[in-house]
Amino acid sequence: MNSQSVVAKFGGTSVADYTSMYRCAQIINDDPTVKVVVVSASAGVTNHLVELVQQKANHEERLALVEAVMQIQHRILEHVTLDSDLQTGFEETYLEFKEVALLPALSTQQCDEVLSFGERFSSFIFTQVLRTLGVNSVRFDVRNILKTDSSFSKATPDIEATAVAAAKHLAPLLDNHVVVTQGFIGSDKYGQTTTLGRGGSDYSAALIAEAIDAGSVQIWTDVVGIFSTDPRLCTKAKPIPRLSFDEAAEMATFGAKVLHPATILPASRKGISVFVGSSKAPDQGGTWIEKETQTQSGIRAVTQRKNQILLTLKSPEMLLASGFLAKIFTILSNYNISVDLVTTSEISVALTLDNAPNASRPELEQACLDELGEFCHVSVENNLTLVAMIGSEIQLKGGDDCLVDVLSEFDIRLICHGASRHNLCFLVEQASSDQVVQAIHQKLLEAA
Ligand code: ADP
Ligand code: ASP
Ligand code: MG
Repeated sequence: MNSQSVVAKFGGTSVADYTSMYRCAQIINDDPTVKVVVVSASAGVTNHLVELVQQKANHEERLALVEAVMQIQHRILEHVTLDSDLQTGFEETYLEFKEVALLPALSTQQCDEVLSFGERFSSFIFTQVLRTLGVNSVRFDVRNILKTDSSFSKATPDIEATAVAAAKHLAPLLDNHVVVTQGFIGSDKYGQTTTLGRGGSDYSAALIAEAIDAGSVQIWTDVVGIFSTDPRLCTKAKPIPRLSFDEAAEMATFGAKVLHPATILPASRKGISVFVGSSKAPDQGGTWIEKETQTQSGIRAVTQRKNQILLTLKSPEMLLASGFLAKIFTILSNYNISVDLVTTSEISVALTLDNAPNASRPELEQACLDELGEFCHVSVENNLTLVAMIGSEIQLKGGDDCLVDVLSEFDIRLICHGASRHNLCFLVEQASSDQVVQAIHQKLLEAA
C-alpha cells in the first residue's frame, strides 16, 4: 500500500445522525488520500446493546431495546435511501440482530455478536452517504480481516493473521474504492464474532493502518484534538498540537478517553502518525502524534481514571525475606489480574488495580483474596481515582518545585514516580478527584 494513504475513523458522535454523517462524508470527499473509513456505532447504540447483553431485561424490555437501536438507524435513513446491495445487507443484518438479541439467554460469544450490530448497521448507512457525494465507496465486513483470539468482549488481535487477510481481501479493493468498514469488531479463527472492548474503534483503525501499511490514521471525534485535560472538566483545557507516541500512550492508558489505550501500539510499531481532530470543525486542526516530537520537558497534561482499587498486603515475614513479592504476583497472575502501580515498604506492599466497568480485566475475586490472606494481612479500599500527570522528563526537583507544593494540598493515598519519566501518578478519593484534577490543571497548566 502507498505509505501516503490514510485510514480515517469516525466515532459515535460523528456518525450519530444524518447531518453528522454528511459532514464526515465531506471530509472524505475533500481528501483523496483516505482509502479506508472505520466507523463506530451511532452514538447511544452500543449502550443499548450493552444493556441487552447484561441480560437483566425481560422480553418486553429487550424488544424495547431492539426498537431503540433500530429507531436510531431509521432516523438517519429518513434522509438517505440505500442502494439495493446495501439495502439487502441491512435487512439481513436486522433479521440476524433480532434473532440473537431476543434470545432468553446469551453465551459470551453471543454477547459479542449482539454488541457487533451497532458498527454493522452504521457502516451500511455511511457507505450510502458517501455515495450520495459521488464517492465510489464499498462496504467491507472487517471480520474478514481483523483476526483475534477468542477472548470475547476483550479480544486480542492477531497481528500477522490480520496482515495476511488484509493483503488478500482488503488491499485489492483500495485501488478503485473508498472502503467503509467497522471499528470495534473482529473474528476469531472459527469465524465467530469478537469485540475489542469499549471504545475499541480507535484501536481497529490503527490495526487496519498497520495491516495495510498506511501512512497515517485520522481519529475524528467531537473535540479538536487531545487536550491538556478532559475539556468537559476544565473549560480552560487547551488542545496539544503535538505529542510523542509515549506521551499519547500514557495519556490514553491513564484515562484520556479520547483515545482507546491500545491505539498507539500499532502506530508506534510501524511509525504511523496519528491525527486527532473534530469532525465538526475539521479546519481547526488537532493533535498530531508522532514518533519524535520536539516538545519541552515537564508536565503537559493531567488525566484521571476512576474506580480504582488499592490492595495493601502486610506481613512481618516480609522483613528481609525473599520471594514475598513473587508469591503475590504469581497469585494475581493466576487470577488474570494485572497490576498498575506498586509501592513497597519493609513489611508491606501496596498495589492498584483497575476496576472500571469497561476495564479489560476481571474483577477481584474473593478466592484470590483468600489465597493472598493465607500468608499476609490483606486490606482492600475501593472508590479511588488514579490521577496521572503526563509529560516528558518529569522531575520532582528543580523546575518542578511547585509540583511538590501542589501535591501537598491533597490527601494522597499512594504516589508513584520513577519507572517512567513520562508520568507521575497518585491515588485520591474518587469523591474529590474532579477537584484535584481541576486544581492541578489550574496551577500547573493554565499559568503559561
Ligand atoms: P468518540 O465517540 O469519537 O470515540 P469519545 O467520547 O470516545 O469519542 O472521546 C472523546 C471525548 O473524550 C471528549 O468528548 C472528551 O470529553 C473526552 N476526553 C477525556 N480526556 C480528554 C483529553 N485529554 N482530551 C480530549 N478529550 C478528552
Ligand atoms: N461502539 C463501541 C463503543 O461505544 C466502540 C467505539 O465506539 O469505539 O464502545
Ligand atoms: Mg472513543
